[in-house]
Amino acid sequence: MNERHYDVLIIGAGAGGGTVARELAPLCREGKRIAVLEWGPRFRDSEFNGDELRMAGKVYFASGGFLTESRDMTLAFGRGYGGSTMVYTGTSIDLPAHVADAWAVPGLSHGDIAARTAKYKAENNVHELDDGLINENNGLFAQGCRALGLNVRKFPVNIKGCQGSGMCNMGCPNQAKQGTNRVQLPEAEAQGVEIVTHCRVERIGERYVDARIEPFPFGLPPEWEPGPYRIHAKVIVVCGGAVNTSALLLRSSLPGRFPALGRYFTCHPALTLIAQHDQPITNYYGFPKTYYCDDFERSDHFILETCMYFPFTTAKNIATFGEAHSAFLEDFRKLQMILVLAGDPALRENRIEVDGDGEPKVHYNFADSVRAGLVKAQKVAGDIFFAAGARRIHLPAAAEPMIDASMAGDLDTLVGDQHFELGRIPISAAHMMGGCRMGTSPEDSVTDAWGRVHGIPWLFCADSSLFPKSSEVNPYLTVMALADRVAEGIRMEAGALLA
Ligand SMILES: Cc1cc2nc3c(=O)[nH]c(=O)nc-3n(C[C@H](O)[C@H](O)[C@H](O)COP(=O)(O)OP(=O)(O)OC[C@H]3O[C@@H](n4cnc5c(N)ncnc54)[C@H](O)[C@@H]3O)c2cc1C
Ligand code: SF4
Repeated sequence: MNERHYDVLIIGAGAGGGTVARELAPLCREGKRIAVLEWGPRFRDSEFNGDELRMAGKVYFASGGFLTESRDMTLAFGRGYGGSTMVYTGTSIDLPAHVADAWAVPGLSHGDIAARTAKYKAENNVHELDDGLINENNGLFAQGCRALGLNVRKFPVNIKGCQGSGMCNMGCPNQAKQGTNRVQLPEAEAQGVEIVTHCRVERIGERYVDARIEPFPFGLPPEWEPGPYRIHAKVIVVCGGAVNTSALLLRSSLPGRFPALGRYFTCHPALTLIAQHDQPITNYYGFPKTYYCDDFERSDHFILETCMYFPFTTAKNIATFGEAHSAFLEDFRKLQMILVLAGDPALRENRIEVDGDGEPKVHYNFADSVRAGLVKAQKVAGDIFFAAGARRIHLPAAAEPMIDASMAGDLDTLVGDQHFELGRIPISAAHMMGGCRMGTSPEDSVTDAWGRVHGIPWLFCADSSLFPKSSEVNPYLTVMALADRVAEGIRMEAGALLA
């Protein structure tokens, strides 16, 4: 067993881990040793080539299709230098005040999250997209919403030098998305933080982790020789993402009782809805996600966003087979897409567990409010598609998923809960949240309001696992804001913690 010693170990190089690394990096000037241990590799820009199937296997866990135990939803989360920020779209939304209030974590205010969010909006170049990058797929959504009197908003995004290649969710080949892989991690490295890739942390012990370097056959080679390592540290900050952070803590036999560990998992279950136009539109070139409509967020717990996915993902999202399936996909250039994100309640039974090998299993039941939201959202999206001139549309919770424009007035009867058949409807999610929620009591939370695991002074979480409930909006800025807070707490106590 190889042995290493550090002052601070950060597990995971995603939105949370990258932020903590950069925020703690000034400690390196005082002689402190800090390392980030990242399971995935660091990719060369030339490796982000948009080859959908091969890339999915490289940049995502389970190729982006991690199945829940009931096998009716797939979860997507990234693996590599930058974590999911390597594959996110970069839409940058503030946590709404009413959501922070509903989180009700004593000592954590909306004002605190907003101030930290503002810092990352500035650092990561969040701004409104240039009109020149808006393609017809996005423009038609805005047109349809406006025709129906819905409020359509432009997403703030964090890109710089975007070339409109449309490949955001497979990794940007043009260094345009300003994720932690472009901003915080390089800055942390420049200040002396070591990043160790191809390094899977297997378990956490009393002020050490057991990890293994197992090189992937892609990406830059690992910094350390392959093999097992025991790495000692005075402080350990877990930032593996909601699923993997919970799984790591669960398989680590930590001292104490953690009845809430892995629980209250939320993920914004999503449906991709697709319309076919008579004529080709610009869709797969241009920035893929430009507009959203949150008119139904408070009343029906869903938001509608523009999106454009790749051919395999699109094919998988069509809930039919054979000729009808092929007819829809025959000319990709005619397709328009809308993504529905449901705001899901934090239920205790929705949880992450580990199997006998320590691998994560996700149990997820769809709350009635989520089902109702996803059904209603399909009718609203159907109306938007038809208002934008679509010839036919695909709504998975319809009696017959393919609906012709001649039936545009019948959506209320065609789409309904009786057709919302789990397992038949392709539901996916990319916003993993919870499992190590912040709070005060160990009965219903895992960490305090500064991310410290209850009763373990040297162990922190600083990622999306901290969310007490869903964010109801795209979450990455809030992940960074919370990670910033955890890092500040560690800095404030550095004298005692790192002595
Ligand atoms: C396709 C996609 C699109 C998205 N688009 C947006 C968007 O437009 N806007 C938005 O706000 N959010 C978006 N998100 C969500 C956003 O990316 C996440 O909320 C955010 O990145 C979560 O941060 P995190 O630090 O919790 O986890 P991650 O960013 O996922 O990072 C976790 C890292 O930890 C590593 N890791 C896990 N376990 C271990 C271990 N045992 N040992 C070592 N390393 C480990 C993983 O490999 C990974 O690199 C998107 C997500 C996806 C997947
Ligand atoms: S659309 Fe822009 S941000 Fe997305 S992958 Fe292409 S260049 Fe990068």
